[in-house]
Amino acid sequence: MTDAATGNPLPDAKGWFGEFGGRFVPPQLEPVLDEIAEAFERYRDDEDFNREYEYYLRQFVGRPNPLYLCDKLTRQQGGAKIYLKREDLNHTGAHKINNTLGQVLLAKRLGKKRIIAETGAGQHGVATATACALFDMECIIYMGEIDTERQALNVFRMELLGAKVVAVKRGTRTLKDAVDEALEDLITNYETTYYMLGSAVGPHPYPAMVKHFQCMIGREAREQILAAEGRLPDAVVACVGGGSNAIGLFAPFYDDRSVRIIGVEPAGKGLDTGEHAASITLGKPGIIHGFKCYTLSDENGDPLPVHSVAAGLDYPGVGPEHSFYKATGRGEYVSVTDREALDAFVELARVEGIIPAIESAHAIAYALKLAAEMEPGQLIVVNLSGRGDKDVRQVAGMVEAGEYTLEVRGAMA
Ligand SMILES: *Cc1c(COP(=O)(O)O)cnc(C)c1O
Repeated sequence: MTDAATGNPLPDAKGWFGEFGGRFVPPQLEPVLDEIAEAFERYRDDEDFNREYEYYLRQFVGRPNPLYLCDKLTRQQGGAKIYLKREDLNHTGAHKINNTLGQVLLAKRLGKKRIIAETGAGQHGVATATACALFDMECIIYMGEIDTERQALNVFRMELLGAKVVAVKRGTRTLKDAVDEALEDLITNYETTYYMLGSAVGPHPYPAMVKHFQCMIGREAREQILAAEGRLPDAVVACVGGGSNAIGLFAPFYDDRSVRIIGVEPAGKGLDTGEHAASITLGKPGIIHGFKCYTLSDENGDPLPVHSVAAGLDYPGVGPEHSFYKATGRGEYVSVTDREALDAFVELARVEGIIPAIESAHAIAYALKLAAEMEPGQLIVVNLSGRGDKDVRQVAGMVEAGEYTLEVRGAMA
């Protein structure tokens, strides 16, 4: 079966994209996930559902957002034209709201009154709390205690939006423990409660569902580039954490075989340092968090500690559909270091007047290199997945500590 919206292959009934995906959960969760999968199948093409979803995307999120030609960066690099898909202009400043609005509407159709989610950096927590405020849902966000300290401002944002943030004190007190606690809550309270997942990962049906609720990114970009240039781009580029902004851009170009699909992973301090989160580049197929994907894990199959300067890319696995793109050769996956991403963060601010999220700066960094290698007149679409206001304090701290200097190098030199 193929997806009417994107033309690309859907997972089979059990959520397999080739050998990736599936569902590896305790037996108590099977019926809970079945209920969500059935609701998703019922409503994904339902007219009333889509009318309501599209209303909020337009009036609340501000879609469609522009596809912006970076004229100055293009001239500077001397190669392909660089277009940015402006997800940073969405309400709440990133692509995550596209997904949380879709899922909250589904939860409403299921008669659920209570939403739970887990968050690491806090961005998904904020997008969830926003959707819950709008639809009068009780909202509980599980967050590792260490993460609540590192991301105190996002904790306050969630509380301001009416959410209850639970600091998880067990284990390593980070994302993994927050996931465990959220799943226990779900098993106990599933009759009233909906579990909101923030990326195209996890057990079936989440990867297919989150992709569905992010695909307007690529659908809009495809229409916009055809309107602006009269032809398809030569490459589409996005950063890959769990992979939701990337699959949202890529999927509608899946059947356009002339379009190169390029995912950019965080190489952290370097691929040879062990301090990175390049799950596809250096990982092996394995099972984490209820699904099979390329994963960075030890010999027992336990996820390894990962690092990226971008908190939103700091994940030891990757969505099953990206794993499938990689294994079948449809997608290319590359990596960019912390340093290169920081340089691109500064570069986009200085040259185009746009401060990107550090996550998105990974995609920008690779696109700048790629543009310079390509011919003038060729076209690149880069997903600017979010704005960088949330990262300004972190970068200022690095400059103050002497870990980074603001002289722009690389492409600018
Ligand atoms: C969360 C986040 C990401 C990474 O998540 P994906 O699911 O891989 O898209 C990327 N960019 C921004 C701005 C984010 O907030």
